[in-house]
Amino acid sequence: MYTLQTPLYTVKGIGPKMSEAFAARQLFTVKDVLLFVPLRYEDRSQKKMIYQLQVGELVTVEAEVISASNFYKGRRSMQSAMVKDHTGQLKLFWFNNPHVVQRLQKGVKVLVSGKLNERGGMTQPTVELYTDDAIHTGRLVPMYSGIEGVAPALLRRRLKTILDNLNPFDNSLETAGLTTDFLSLHKSLFQIHFPDSEQHIIQARERFALEELLALIQHSQHLKQQWQAAASAHTITIKEKLTAATIGALPFQLTTAQHRCIAEIFHDLNLSTPMNRLLIGDVGSGKTAVAGVACVQVLANKHHAVLAAPTQILAEQHFATIQKLFPQLHTELITSRTNSKNKNINTNQPTLFIGTHAVFNHLSEIQPALLIYDEQHRFGVTHRSLSQKLKHRPHLLTLSATPIPRTLMLTIFAHLNLSIIDEMPPGRLPVKTWLVPETKRDDALTWLTTTLQNQVPAQAFIICPFIDPSKAEALENVAAATEMLEKMQKFYTEHSSPQYSQPRLALLHGRMSKKEQTVITDQLYKKEIDILVTTPIVEVGIDLPAASIIVIEAAERFGLASLHQLRGRVGRAGQQGYCLLFTNSVSSETKKRLQQFCTIHEGMKLAEMDLQRRGAGDIFGTQQHGFDDLQFANWTNLDLIAKAKKIADEIQTKKVPWEPFFLLKKDEESPLLAN
Ligand code: ADP
Ligand code: MG
Repeated sequence: MYTLQTPLYTVKGIGPKMSEAFAARQLFTVKDVLLFVPLRYEDRSQKKMIYQLQVGELVTVEAEVISASNFYKGRRSMQSAMVKDHTGQLKLFWFNNPHVVQRLQKGVKVLVSGKLNERGGMTQPTVELYTDDAIHTGRLVPMYSGIEGVAPALLRRRLKTILDNLNPFDNSLETAGLTTDFLSLHKSLFQIHFPDSEQHIIQARERFALEELLALIQHSQHLKQQWQAAASAHTITIKEKLTAATIGALPFQLTTAQHRCIAEIFHDLNLSTPMNRLLIGDVGSGKTAVAGVACVQVLANKHHAVLAAPTQILAEQHFATIQKLFPQLHTELITSRTNSKNKNINTNQPTLFIGTHAVFNHLSEIQPALLIYDEQHRFGVTHRSLSQKLKHRPHLLTLSATPIPRTLMLTIFAHLNLSIIDEMPPGRLPVKTWLVPETKRDDALTWLTTTLQNQVPAQAFIICPFIDPSKAEALENVAAATEMLEKMQKFYTEHSSPQYSQPRLALLHGRMSKKEQTVITDQLYKKEIDILVTTPIVEVGIDLPAASIIVIEAAERFGLASLHQLRGRVGRAGQQGYCLLFTNSVSSETKKRLQQFCTIHEGMKLAEMDLQRRGAGDIFGTQQHGFDDLQFANWTNLDLIAKAKKIADEIQTKKVPWEPFFLLKKDEESPLLAN
C-alpha cells in the first residue's frame, strides 16, 4: 500500500528510468504524481455494437479477436486486425505499432475505442484487453500533458496502480465533519484521474479548489495573529474636541465616507492591539485628509507618526498637502534628497515624518506609533523588518487606490480591516473616455491641442506603455516615450496653426536622474509645461490640479483598474477631464473590454472585471507574487470562497489540526501579504 509521501521509485512498475522521467517534471512522490492532473478527458464512454457504428463517432466496442498481423507498406510498418461481435466484423489499422498485435491473440476479448472511417474500418484505435475496470476505453479517459519518456497509456496504468493501492486517508476536515458538502480528498484524487462522470470531475476540482482557498485564508489568518500577538501598540486617546477643531479648520467639508473612515481608524487606534487597516478610495477621493486627521490625534498623544510614499514626487506632494490642510502639525520631510542616511533626525517634539523609502532608515529613531503607507504594495517592506526596529508595533494604515474585490478580501486579505471611501468630494465630473482608432490620431492631437488652449486649467499627460509588465525593471519603455516625444514635436512642426501656439512639451521617466525629474516636476507645477510625455510612473499619484487630458498608448497592456487609476489623474480641480485610449491590438475582445472601460467609472467594478479575466495579478501588477498560484480555484466563484471562509473560521475556533494540502508557492515575505 502507498501513502501520499511514498517515493515514486518504490511504486510497483516504476523503475529508475521512469522515476527519472518523473523527476524531470518535478514529480517525486505519489502525491506529486496524483496532482499531475489531466489536461482534459476524452469521452470514450459510449458503447456500441459493430452494426450500430456510424462514421466519425467516437465509441467503444466489445469484441473478440479473429486475427492480427504485422506487414509493411513500402518501408512503413503497419498492423491490422479483424475483430467481431455477434452483430458483425470490424477491421482495425495501425501505423508503426508492432506491440499492439502481440496482445491480440486469436479469441482474446478486447475493448476497442475509435471512430469508424469512410472505408468501414478504424484507424489507430485504442485497444485494451477486456476488463470491468478499463482505463483507456469505455469511459471518460484522462489525457495528460506529455512526460518525456513515459507513454500516455503507461502513465495511466501507473496512476491506476497507485490509486488502487493508496491507503485510504482521512483528512482532518472530514474527520471533523467540516466538508460534508464535498467529495473526500481521497475520492477526489481518484475521480480527477478516472472520473465516473463529468459531475465527478467538477466535484473533485471543487474539493481541490477548497483546499487551495483554505491555504490562502489560513496564511492570511496566520499573518494576522503574527501581527497582533507579539507586541502591543500605543493606545491613542482620541480627543473629540481636537477632532472637531481639526476638521472644522479644513478648507472643505469632509464627505460622509471620509467621516466614517476616520471613525473606523480612531476605533482601532484606541486599542492596544496594533491596527492593520486598509483605506481604499479612488484617486482623488481624499485619503490624505483622512490620514492627516489620524496623525493629528497621534501627535496630540505625544507620539510620532510616519507617512511613507513610493516616490519622491509623491512624498513631496503629501508634504505640501499636509502642510496646507493641517498647518498645526509639526511635519518633516525625509527623502534621499533632504536627508543622508547618517544624518540624525530631530525627534524632540511629536512629528509627522513624511518621506520615501529613506524614512525606513530612521524607524528606530522615530519609533512611530502610527505608520501610514501610501500604495504600500510597491514597497517590499515586511513586518519582520519593522518589528526588528521597533519596540512597539506601530498601528498600520495602508492607503490604496486599488479596489480589492470581495472575493480577495475574504481570502488573501482576510488579515486586513477595511475602510472604503466610496464617495468623491462634490463637484468632480467623471472623466470622459474614448477609445480612439489609430486613423484618427492626428485629429485627436489637433483636438487635444485646441482643448488645452481653450480650457483653464489645462495640462495633458501622454502615457507610453511598458515593455514587459512581468519585470519591474522593464516597467518603463523609455525608448517608446522618447520616440513619442519626437513624434509629437514633428507633429507640431508640421501642423503649426494660427488657432493655437505651440504647446510646451517635456519628457519624464524613472530612468532620469532624481535631479532631472525634480526640474520637470517643478516646471509642471509652475505650468511651464503643457504636455508631459511619460511612462506609467505617474500612476502612483501625481496630483496636478491643472491636468485635464490623459492619453494612454497601448492601453490593452494595462489592467482596467490601472487604467482607472491613470484616468483619475485628470480633472482634479473640478474641470472636465478627458481620457483618450489608443491600442495596437486587433483583438475584438480587447477592443470590447476597452469600450466597456469608457462607460464604467466605478473602480470596484473594473477591478472585478480584471479579476475575472486574468486573476489577481492583473489588479496588483504581475510583479506581485502569490496571487495567481491557484490551479483549481477561481476568483469568480464567490459561493465557494464564502464556504471556504466559513470552514477556515471553524478550523480556527474548533482548533482542527488542519495542514494545507497545497503548499503555496508564494514567498512568505511577499510584501503585500506580509504586512
Ligand atoms: P487621494 O485619495 O487620491 O490620495 P487626495 O487625498 O490627494 O486624494 O485628495 C485629492 C484632492 O482633493 C486634494 O487636493 C484634497 O485636498 C482634496 N479633498 C480631499 N477631501 C476633500 C473633500 N471632502 N472635499 C473637497 N476636496 C477634498
Ligand atoms: Mg493619494
